[in-house]
Amino acid sequence: MTDQDIIDRYQELFDLGGVTTSQMRWGFQGVGSGWLPIMERLCIRLQSIAKPTFKLISVKEKLGSLRITFCGGSDAIGEAVDAAKAEAMVTCDQCGAAGALLVTDELWAVRCGKCAVV
Ligand SMILES: [Zn+2]
Repeated sequence: MTDQDIIDRYQELFDLGGVTTSQMRWGFQGVGSGWLPIMERLCIRLQSIAKPTFKLISVKEKLGSLRITFCGGSDAIGEAVDAAKAEAMVTCDQCGAAGALLVTDELWAVRCGKCAVV
């Protein structure tokens, strides 16, 4: 599974027109494969609660955290997105195992013990 697979599968949730400030044409920026299941679960949840005006504008990794921006949200959507971000904070972005934030001179990333060696 790649970020593009998720975008294709749940494309109604993503702003792909490029008419706004959407960054989705670049996919999920810097998001490792360990976080893709979190994004897929979030998309499944969003399908049941999002209005047609809802769109994801960007999905990216920055300083070891999952950053998600969207328009047309609601309280329920905000809670679902916050839950996904919180899950990413304790999930290795490489393999999806339980992890913690690793900070080195070159890297800020959530990694498990096995993936911590860079
Ligand atoms: Zn790992």
